[in-house]
Amino acid sequence: MKPDFLLLQLAATLPAGAVVTSGDRSYEAARKVWNGIFDRRPLAITYPQTAAEVAAVIRLLAASGLPLAVRCGGHSLPGLSTCDDGVILDLSRMNAITVDPQAQTAVVGGGALLGDLDRAGAPYGLVTPAGVISHTGVGGLTLGGGMGWTGRRFGMTIDSLLSAEVVTASGEIVEASPTSEPELFWGLRGGGGNFGVVSRFTFRMHPLGRITAGSWVYPALHSVSVLQRFSSAAMQVPRSVTASFTASASEVSVTALHSGDDPEADALIRLFGNLGPEPEGGLLDLPFTEFQSRNDEAMRWGRRIYSRGGFLAGIGRAETEAITRHLQESPSPDCEIYVILLGGAIADVPEDATAYSGRDAGYYWIVSSVWDDPHQDKDCLVWGRAGASIMGSLSLERNYVNEQGDSSNAIARQAYGAEKYARLARLKARFDPQNLFRLNQNIRPEA
Ligand code: FAD
Repeated sequence: MKPDFLLLQLAATLPAGAVVTSGDRSYEAARKVWNGIFDRRPLAITYPQTAAEVAAVIRLLAASGLPLAVRCGGHSLPGLSTCDDGVILDLSRMNAITVDPQAQTAVVGGGALLGDLDRAGAPYGLVTPAGVISHTGVGGLTLGGGMGWTGRRFGMTIDSLLSAEVVTASGEIVEASPTSEPELFWGLRGGGGNFGVVSRFTFRMHPLGRITAGSWVYPALHSVSVLQRFSSAAMQVPRSVTASFTASASEVSVTALHSGDDPEADALIRLFGNLGPEPEGGLLDLPFTEFQSRNDEAMRWGRRIYSRGGFLAGIGRAETEAITRHLQESPSPDCEIYVILLGGAIADVPEDATAYSGRDAGYYWIVSSVWDDPHQDKDCLVWGRAGASIMGSLSLERNYVNEQGDSSNAIARQAYGAEKYARLARLKARFDPQNLFRLNQNIRPEA
């Protein structure tokens, strides 16, 4: 199908204002994604508002043979929610959330952001575990797995997923749950956007209780000992506590959160303020929704980022020294290595229960090269890739698809391992035999 004809068809099919093309004033803003490296020019950005409209866009794109990018929060690290000369299916107008406080569930539009979900649950003291930056999309985060501050207590985001309404590559609208299309439901929980567009998620919510949080900054001079003591403190805390550190060339910032009504909460969090000399910081007196958006500005839209991650069994001497040494060579002050404690409820779920893999890991690391000046692209990319390779050599076999700044079939194969990959490839052959949904950590259809 010729591009002009596709645009006419899209405009004829969707309501007025739901198709933005290069002739529109809003095009420049509409084509942007979160990672400033990716400066792509799609033919159109479409804004469906219902599953039926999503299906209509999918059918037209399938017939056209042109690239289709699916966008929720736009935070794909390798820029997979945009494309040149194709169409973006943007779900941001499908962001309604309905919380049922009695049933403790949330029905969430496929284009909602994490902050929308946190704010919808807050009046009832309910949460669904998700990520740490509130402008990230529920769609992409959930389909890869979803790790964040309450994961050790309540599990990955996918572990609270009850069902999903999915628009498949043929434009069919199906319900995936433990009792309806259970194999699709298995694949959606970690398999990314490979199987269709999720127009609606239904999540279990959990009573959060009181939160106790603390954050401390230690000078980089003491990094090695601070990181080793972090690991000792992390091994002592119950699953109601999640802790992370962000190390840069100048400092190590440690944050910990306890949720639930435990009289020991203050003491548990204060462990992380006692990891070395000269800490600055203390307990934080914030509602959960504010805690969840503390780093939104530092990770604002338009920054340039290259990031890769992996699982660690533990943090010993080799890991702390590798982290500290690599940071000494960082080309930008915002180049960081972030590590979050896993385990707890995440590890309670059997490894084969979901496509997401690596549940027995102790930690997740992310080497994050962040900068603003395009002239620094080369240095920052080289630093990020070198860090990923050093940390990768210390890491466990499986991986998390959502935290990879590159995209390839090889990344998907490594993330899931041979057995799960083969199962995912069969599912892909059933739901997307032509590989329409290929802008992702791609699983190839193989019968
Ligand atoms: P988008 O770019 O909109 O989507 C990414 C991909 O997901 C799309 O290409 C598409 O394939 C798929 N997709 C999105 N929505 C749908 C849908 N409704 N149906 C079908 N497919 C869909 N991850 C964590 O686990 N925890 C964190 O704390 C965390 N923090 C992050 C902070 C930042 C600043 C960034 C950039 C990333 C973070 N991530 C985190 C990684 C994050 O999970 C992935 O980048 C994820 O893909 C973002 O989802 P999105 O909807 O914002 O992205």
